[in-house]
Amino acid sequence: MDVEPATGQNRVSRRKMIAAAAASAIPLSAGAWHLLSKNSSGQSSSNAVSSQQSTASIDTWNPPIRVNLTPSPLTDLTISIDGPSRILAPGSAKILAQSVSIKDKVVSAEGNGIRVGDEVFPISQIEIVTAKSPSIWIGRNQYRGYVRIFRRPGGRLIAVNILPLEEYLASVLNSEMPASFPDEAREAQTIAARTYVLSQMKGHPQFDVYATSRSQRYLGYQYLNDEGRRLAGETQGSREITERTAGIVCTWQGKVFTTFYTAVCGGRTTLGRSVFKDAVPAIASVECDWCREADRYRWTSSIAVERMSRSLQEHFAIENQEFGQLTSLQSAFGDAGSLPFYMVSDGVRTEKIAGTELRHSLPIGTLNSPRFTAEIDAAEVRFSGAGHGHGVGFCQWGSRGLALAGRSALQILQYYYPGSATVRLRG
Ligand SMILES: [Zn+2]
Repeated sequence: MDVEPATGQNRVSRRKMIAAAAASAIPLSAGAWHLLSKNSSGQSSSNAVSSQQSTASIDTWNPPIRVNLTPSPLTDLTISIDGPSRILAPGSAKILAQSVSIKDKVVSAEGNGIRVGDEVFPISQIEIVTAKSPSIWIGRNQYRGYVRIFRRPGGRLIAVNILPLEEYLASVLNSEMPASFPDEAREAQTIAARTYVLSQMKGHPQFDVYATSRSQRYLGYQYLNDEGRRLAGETQGSREITERTAGIVCTWQGKVFTTFYTAVCGGRTTLGRSVFKDAVPAIASVECDWCREADRYRWTSSIAVERMSRSLQEHFAIENQEFGQLTSLQSAFGDAGSLPFYMVSDGVRTEKIAGTELRHSLPIGTLNSPRFTAEIDAAEVRFSGAGHGHGVGFCQWGSRGLALAGRSALQILQYYYPGSATVRLRG
């Protein structure tokens, strides 16, 4: 959908917008288009806020978020803590151990317990609480908040970082979107990321989200790169944008929803429910060439027929199906804007496979997105594709294009989630 052009009306200052957060679940749609616009002046708005309209179903606006730092459980991990810390049993005030500081201690499973350096705690989970935040390092990343370590079957561990939502978002913003993108795009990204994580708080016993693109990327407060240089996971700029948008979320029928987003949609976003079963109607398919300046708006790649055949054989073996040497790969045209499907054949059998499945079954980086055409000869398959990522929802590079064209964060969110509302939760 298109959005209304900017006008001089309804502008309110950011200070007034933040002050307005004291009210509960303030709808920011319609008259509040310019709340987050770069051109906001100090003029007040008569209809920017109204507590008479629908309210969001969440009334706590800065809850603790539990982030799984280890999507694949590990046999061991290394922790360092810049300052005093204590080890507790979760849910208990009993102190199991305390240290003035910790440097490169290895944590591993041992017997039925967890070993930290030379000490073994005969319990399946521990909580490491620090005197100051940020201070705890897990591997190469330093985090705000505190950490729980859970023992998993097979002698493996997962580490979960627990910290307030808004502190988490200041890092997610920079982890997911370059600092060079316009403020309006970064504001929209922050609101989408806030909504996403709130939608994922479904009562899992150990964590809410992963720290990777499986949920959304979260590098923590700072991290070491391959050369050992310290890089910022959050910055003054990302903290300011998080604060400016504090408590603002997208809603569908009064509730936060899973705000899927993608790096580059490649020209048209993909209908959410054709890919994800929990996608609401606001995850629509919309035209978007606003991402055309992205490197992967269009892309090409190739893979040896033999290698691709092996991947397909592994894929179909899971379904107890046989597959030989790939001889043809063709698009199975469906509805425009829906997830693309493909027909793959070995000359004997022909199977239908979703673009997302094909993408994940091939070596990482072979297919940047599920949307492509392919040419095949005896030796090689050559792909010409569009976009980067699953293509569903908010287009990150598209939001950059829209922001450069003068759209506000709220207009950008309305563009990619048509029919949704944007509200500020109680702050
Ligand atoms: Zn796009």
